[in-house]
Amino acid sequence: MYSADGIAKRRNGRAEPTEEMIAGLVCSVCRTDYRRSPDKDARVVSHHGDTQLLACEGVCARMASGSVTGVDETPLPLADRVRNYEVGR
Ligand SMILES: [Zn+2]
Repeated sequence: MYSADGIAKRRNGRAEPTEEMIAGLVCSVCRTDYRRSPDKDARVVSHHGDTQLLACEGVCARMASGSVTGVDETPLPLADRVRNYEVGR
């Protein structure tokens, strides 16, 4: 058996979240842009350093964290995430 996980990582770099994922602006699973889909329910599913990684409630959150609602943590409001992202650039 080979490691499918290792191959996937090498091929498309999935191990490294993008800047927008780290900023919580896009789903870390399906890459939905929350700035354009404000009705999507983003949930905290994991962390990158001390920032939250988000995923849509439901299938995405379950894929990322094992729970459809992610971890028991409240995500930063979208407006704050956008502002932090702009400031950090
Ligand atoms: Zn998603």
